[in-house]
Amino acid sequence: MDIKNLQRENIKTLRPYSTARDEYKGQASVFLDANENSYGSPLPENFNRYPDPLQLDLKDAISKIKGVPIENTFLGNGSDEAIDLLFRAFCNPGKDNVIILPPTYGMYEVSANINDVEIRKVNLLPNFQLDLEGIAEAIDENTKLIFICSPNNPTGNSIVRTDIETVLANFNGLVIIDEAYINFAKQRTFIQELTEYPQLVVLQTFSKAWGLAGLRLGMAFASSIIIDILNKVKAPYNISQSTQDLALAALQNIGQVNEWIKTTVAERELLSKSLLELAMVKKVYPSDANFILAQVDDANATYDALVDRGIIVRNRAKVTLCEGCLRITVGTPAENEILLTALKSLTN
Ligand SMILES: *Cc1c(COP(=O)(O)O)cnc(C)c1O
Repeated sequence: MDIKNLQRENIKTLRPYSTARDEYKGQASVFLDANENSYGSPLPENFNRYPDPLQLDLKDAISKIKGVPIENTFLGNGSDEAIDLLFRAFCNPGKDNVIILPPTYGMYEVSANINDVEIRKVNLLPNFQLDLEGIAEAIDENTKLIFICSPNNPTGNSIVRTDIETVLANFNGLVIIDEAYINFAKQRTFIQELTEYPQLVVLQTFSKAWGLAGLRLGMAFASSIIIDILNKVKAPYNISQSTQDLALAALQNIGQVNEWIKTTVAERELLSKSLLELAMVKKVYPSDANFILAQVDDANATYDALVDRGIIVRNRAKVTLCEGCLRITVGTPAENEILLTALKSLTN
């Protein structure tokens, strides 16, 4: 399978922007090549220099945690940047198509629309697993990407591993597995499978378990051919110096993050149980993520009543296969208690 031939012709022949720091590599002490402010910056920490375009120090630290080599790692301004770059690098507008598996994360469709790329929707089965036959039927010679979100947002379940492997074994485009919630899952990551499947892209993010949604930092792991293509297309300085510095500091605090993951998973189970005990709750779906999908008697009314009490959940009542459902992020014990008390007051 030739990944290089999957990219758009204009990307194949693209000569990427060459930064001042790309052109000079080595030891120097006087940098007069990039029109920066040579005097400094009006901050305690200096930000007057352009950041490393390839974020090598940060990737090195991530590599030590994830076990993925630097050349197989791409960092983006959120995973959303990686999603958009996959469209821009591999999908010819007005010609190619991608497959998404609703109900799922909304950005795949938005990114496809922005890039004028046809979307083929193959709904998940009622058990929120892959419709392998439907996927096989939807694929044609212009299908470039398939997005599999596991654990899936908004349903919370992990996708059966062997089903994902079936897609990987039978599809000749890129298979993107979005593992934004993998830290909360029993299922293990597909990162270890990267060496086996040249067309596999695994997305992870600092926005969820790592507690850094405000920083905007996402990871894509893939074969070096795919990573090189993403690096060629991305904005030269897509990750700011402050993001690189702060993420490096955060990686020193992995112990805290692992504690939060344990607490979140424990709270998720408690919250699921408590929700099920409420008369208005018809169904609580099992979750491998840091949120719970729950079907209630009247989702719209419940949503509004919670808003009146200053509690915001996500109303998914209109989403395919999620009729009557609310998506509830696992909060702190105090927040979960406030939610449960409010829901109980509605029941009475
Ligand atoms: C939250 C989320 C992301 C994270 O996107 P970022 O741009 O990294 O914040 C990615 N995928 C899914 C499915 C999500 O729910």
